[in-house]
Amino acid sequence: MPKQSLKTVSVARERVLVRVDFNVPLQGDKVGDDTRIRAALPTIRHLADKGNAVILMSHLGRPKGQVKPELTLKPVATRLQELLGRPVGFVEDCVGEVAETRTRSLQPGDVLLLENLRFHREETDNDQTFARALARHAERTYVNDAFGAAHRAHASTVGVTAFVDRAIAGYLMIRELEYLLPLMEHPGRPYAAVLGGAKVSGKLEVIESLLVRVDRLLIGGAMMFTFLKAKGLDVGRSLVEDELVETAGRIVSDAAARNIDLLLPEDCLAASSIDGSDPGVVVPVNAIPPDRMGVDVGPATIERFRKYLAPCKTVVWNGPMGVFEVDAYATGTMAMARTLAELTDRGATTVVGGGDSVAAAVKAGVADRLSHVSTGGGASLEFLEGKELPGVVALSEERT
Ligand code: ADP
Ligand code: MG
Repeated sequence: MPKQSLKTVSVARERVLVRVDFNVPLQGDKVGDDTRIRAALPTIRHLADKGNAVILMSHLGRPKGQVKPELTLKPVATRLQELLGRPVGFVEDCVGEVAETRTRSLQPGDVLLLENLRFHREETDNDQTFARALARHAERTYVNDAFGAAHRAHASTVGVTAFVDRAIAGYLMIRELEYLLPLMEHPGRPYAAVLGGAKVSGKLEVIESLLVRVDRLLIGGAMMFTFLKAKGLDVGRSLVEDELVETAGRIVSDAAARNIDLLLPEDCLAASSIDGSDPGVVVPVNAIPPDRMGVDVGPATIERFRKYLAPCKTVVWNGPMGVFEVDAYATGTMAMARTLAELTDRGATTVVGGGDSVAAAVKAGVADRLSHVSTGGGASLEFLEGKELPGVVALSEERT
């Protein structure tokens, strides 16, 4: 990698600004799944051990420029402190006088977490004044360890790099890139992608460019219904993004033209509400009752997906197969997680990416049996599509 990183650059006894990806699921005022926090520990420990004052910044959720108390990073600071085994400070804003006074007063080895970056709209706007304000926390070094945010050109991932002496990759960033690079360049075949989750938008583009790279594409989760609707089926009250139905239809015919197997579910679990009060019934996808919504893939689909994945040498998975947060609707997602674990045991390379997908793999108890658990969903997919990640491009070049 021609970028400067913690592997090649020594950073000691400075105030260092570190972008991490602490966009974790919250359960009330507690951290639901701490995978992403654990993933950042090597970088934080390394920097603190070298006598640096470590100033951490992250986004959480989509507060869209508003201060949303339910999206505070406070619970993350608490959890980080437990995991790190040393005190972690927290400051109520990421920029401004109060925050700057706090970061100026830090001692060697101190760790401080700044409040949610996205409480300021300027973060996602990549506003230069805001980026400069962030950079003021650092003496000279900015470390980017937020692989999960590297596909976005925001103030904390790109803008800030213009206002520091050096912008270098953290250990997590290095590990993700080193793992995903060979997969992008020469994946073992057959190569399959399994996509699910809540939204088609944002992922449709990914699907289109993955089509030229994979041999098999399996679709589950809520996004299946937009595809099924494109095929003319009535999907009841299932989640559909109407404005994307046409695009979904184009993808289906595209796949056919390229001889790529695009597999859609043949059955699903249909329930009258999404909250788990109704256990639901299994129906073929062409017989979803008008008053019900699909909340999981059905048993026939699970079996067919398993068979289709069996010969694959590479499998990339992003997006749960159903509303796995509700136990009654988690069957398809848990089965997918176990299928990937079995394939890994048999020598396939398997990658799971995305906050919820990783949480699902953890819930299924198979996370450590997969080849690579990527902390980035969108970022890992865009990387595997062959796209450059702006957060990586912005890092300082290695001096030769
Ligand atoms: P990831 O975080 O892994 O990238 P997403 O955020 O795209 O995944 O999607 C995860 C969400 O998708 C979960 O909260 C899950 O409940 C939801 N989901 C999956 N299937 C359905 C469905 N059939 N109807 C509604 N929501 C669904
Ligand atoms: Mg998610």
